[in-house]
Amino acid sequence: HHHIDHATPESVLAAVAAGDTHAHVPAYEALDAYRTAGGYATLADLRATRNADAEFERVQQTLLDAGLRGLGGAGFPSGRKWGFVRAEPGPRYLAVNGDEGEPGTFKDRYYLERTPHLFLEGMLIAAWAVEAERCFIYMRDEYPAVLDILATEIAALEAADLIKPGYVELRRGAGAYICGEESAMIESIEGKRGLPRHRPPFVAQVGIFNRPTLVNNVETLLWVTRILREGPEILNTVELNGRKGLRSYSVSGRVKNPGVHLLPAGSTITDIIAAAGGMLDGHTFKAYQPGGPSSGLLPASMHDVPLDFDTLQPHGTFIGSAAVVVLSDHDRARDAALNMLRFFEDESCGQCTPCRVGCEKAVKLMQADTWDQPLLTELCTAMSDASICGLGQAAPNPIRLTMKHFADEI
Ligand code: SF4
Repeated sequence: HHHIDHATPESVLAAVAAGDTHAHVPAYEALDAYRTAGGYATLADLRATRNADAEFERVQQTLLDAGLRGLGGAGFPSGRKWGFVRAEPGPRYLAVNGDEGEPGTFKDRYYLERTPHLFLEGMLIAAWAVEAERCFIYMRDEYPAVLDILATEIAALEAADLIKPGYVELRRGAGAYICGEESAMIESIEGKRGLPRHRPPFVAQVGIFNRPTLVNNVETLLWVTRILREGPEILNTVELNGRKGLRSYSVSGRVKNPGVHLLPAGSTITDIIAAAGGMLDGHTFKAYQPGGPSSGLLPASMHDVPLDFDTLQPHGTFIGSAAVVVLSDHDRARDAALNMLRFFEDESCGQCTPCRVGCEKAVKLMQADTWDQPLLTELCTAMSDASICGLGQAAPNPIRLTMKHFADEI
């Protein structure tokens, strides 16, 4: 780990120069190469427009036509969110959620270590769209190479006069999963403990320092650039199993080629395992986590469900950030589920009892050879009904799905 006090571009660069970070910065597309290939032309056109309202409506419609939805996991239509924030009185802010704390998710890192300016241009387009006074990038501190790249490239944008000095502020997370929850992230940006807020009001109305705030995920913004440059067809003409668009699946577990696999949004686990080179030798597919630990585990028998927004709700789960973990006959679902609940117990912010105490009790009950299923069921109901935020509300999913699909193990 590295030791940097404040993540201004200058201080991160100074730390890099002093050898204070242990980042191995990979080769990536820097500003000059990106501009030579036509980068920032879309942003320049938008900034030069005479009729910003009409141009905003055109941009918004293009994003809606593409079907772009929030790729941090919530899946809210991006064009509509931009419209809500733009309609609020100024000053308005933009915050990028780069916390990427959902275990098994690494797509944002993958893209930022290769094409950071596809994201940065998308962020500045979003900032144009909601007329943001300032932008905050909240970046996972466990990604030192990404921090170095962003600090370097933000400084390059300033030097090239594409942004005013200080317009984009890079903020480092401090390793708390809960700070990926958008209202907790905003508390953290304000310099406070990352405790989720009650809603309403929503952050689109009352966000950073009580001002209307647009919160978008890194990958969502990268697609904004591509959609505006290449047209909504890059997403809406891709169809599989009745679903449209593309999804960046972060794939890990018992497969030959783990990594980020960009596939049609209607892909099933069968397609994803095939894209990841198949199962490891000597392993038989048994179960999978479709979208982070909050999504729990599904059995191999559910191999034909498209893994997209909305398609998993009837099965009691969701795709989230598309963090797919593949388990084999060498694994026990109950061990994986217990591991998920231990994670939630560690990461609960502790401000509400159903989650703080519920996770702890769930872990104890799940350690028994035989699960007390009626008691666990009651506990799950209390947690999902009465928790303040998504952590406590979704933490029961691994318990419920394990009881439903892996009853022989518990
Ligand atoms: Fe904190 Fe858990 Fe309550 Fe969310 S549900 S506010 S993480 S205690």
